[in-house]
Amino acid sequence: MRADLIIVGAGMVGSTLALALEHSGLKILIVDGSPLSVAPFDAQAPFEPRVSALSMASQRILERLGAWQGIAARRACPYGEMRVWDGSGTGSIHFAAASVHAETLGHIVENRVVQDALLERLHDSQIGLLPGTRLEQLRRSGDDWLLTLEGGRQLRAPLLVAADGANSAVRRLAGCATREWDYLHHAIVTSVRCEKPHQATAWQRFTDDGPLAFLPLAGPAGEHWCSIVWSTVPVEAERLMALDDEAFCVELGKAFELRLGKVLHADRRLCIPLRQRHAKRYVEPGLALIGDAAHTIHPLAGQGVNLGFLDAAVLAEVLLHAAERGEHLSDERVLSRFERRRMPHNLAMMAAMEGFQRLFQADPLPLRLLRNVGLDLVDGQAEAKALFVRQALGLAGDLPELARA
Ligand SMILES: Cc1cc2nc3c(=O)[nH]c(=O)nc-3n(C[C@H](O)[C@H](O)[C@H](O)COP(=O)(O)OP(=O)(O)OC[C@H]3O[C@@H](n4cnc5c(N)ncnc54)[C@H](O)[C@@H]3O)c2cc1C
Repeated sequence: MRADLIIVGAGMVGSTLALALEHSGLKILIVDGSPLSVAPFDAQAPFEPRVSALSMASQRILERLGAWQGIAARRACPYGEMRVWDGSGTGSIHFAAASVHAETLGHIVENRVVQDALLERLHDSQIGLLPGTRLEQLRRSGDDWLLTLEGGRQLRAPLLVAADGANSAVRRLAGCATREWDYLHHAIVTSVRCEKPHQATAWQRFTDDGPLAFLPLAGPAGEHWCSIVWSTVPVEAERLMALDDEAFCVELGKAFELRLGKVLHADRRLCIPLRQRHAKRYVEPGLALIGDAAHTIHPLAGQGVNLGFLDAAVLAEVLLHAAERGEHLSDERVLSRFERRRMPHNLAMMAAMEGFQRLFQADPLPLRLLRNVGLDLVDGQAEAKALFVRQALGLAGDLPELARA
């Protein structure tokens, strides 16, 4: 089967790219190893352990693509404030959406909810879906890419996009080089019920071993639920994973200084090793990498998929403009426009996360003093904080049309 564009990976980022090109006139195929089925939403079902803090920019992109409605109709929790503090000192900082006259800083949404809302739109579109089939082999054949899927089926297209996540098969098979290293952190994620309301606030405590986040969830009336991301050294993560639920809740409450009272219940826990990865190039002739296939970063600022949505929106914009001008979409000069717009932004975000992580893990007294004084100092600076808030909203820098007001 032949197409103008094949996207491998119908995760949150690949699906977004496909929808952003829905009216391009291109013949698009999207391939994924999972069934791509949409389960009916059950409001009584437990929360999914994987959630994302979606920025205002991501919300706008999803709204324009008609997927936000599906998210809002399921389950999303807006948050208007963020509190960050140093667990081994006194420094703290507080951000509020109101400081930049915004209604929210973002929404905490289960990944499954975002994915289902996007899939619902994809199933209603003209985009060709190839579910339940993984890419196994890839090679150049003239000006095309020749893809061999599980079971031997072959596809070809002049333009291929890798949206197949952190362990991208496309990236590996195409021989794209990456820079990567272990954070020496694992993230434990789960949903917990707390004694006190979360106050529509995203909370983050920097402990000696790594950041611990409590993110607000829209639980049933009278119940106070949060999604937690507890990043810590692997040996400690193993110990915490081995605890029974009751002991885990006690340790978690203590690590969080009981800011929301006792932790009354914890759902099933997942433990995810964290690795920083960045492709040295996002493009080569006829190929572009987007989302986690291009970059994975520490989840401490909840930016991974937000960067991915911006990659998808910028790549779509670059391709649509090139098509209007009659250019070849697989031309490296065309695809490089996408790389030039996205790589500096992604690298800056990765460097900031790396800096944060190192600063907060640093033990020497002068560094601990510096970060405590620094947090308090920034907390007193309305202008500097407004800058941070705009970053959190995803509204700083070179925005694609889809993310603009
Ligand atoms: C603990 C944790 C917390 C996080 N919290 C946040 C947050 O708050 N906010 C945020 O923005 N980001 C967050 N992230 C990052 C975010 O989860 C990722 O950036 C996002 O899921 C990446 O989406 P993607 O579509 O690029 O890749 P994926 O979600 O990995 O999707 C890849 C798709 O490709 C398919 N696929 C893979 N291989 C093949 C193959 N060979 N053939 C066919 N299909 C294939 C898969 O089935 C999948 O559907 C967090 C990450 C972690 C680990």
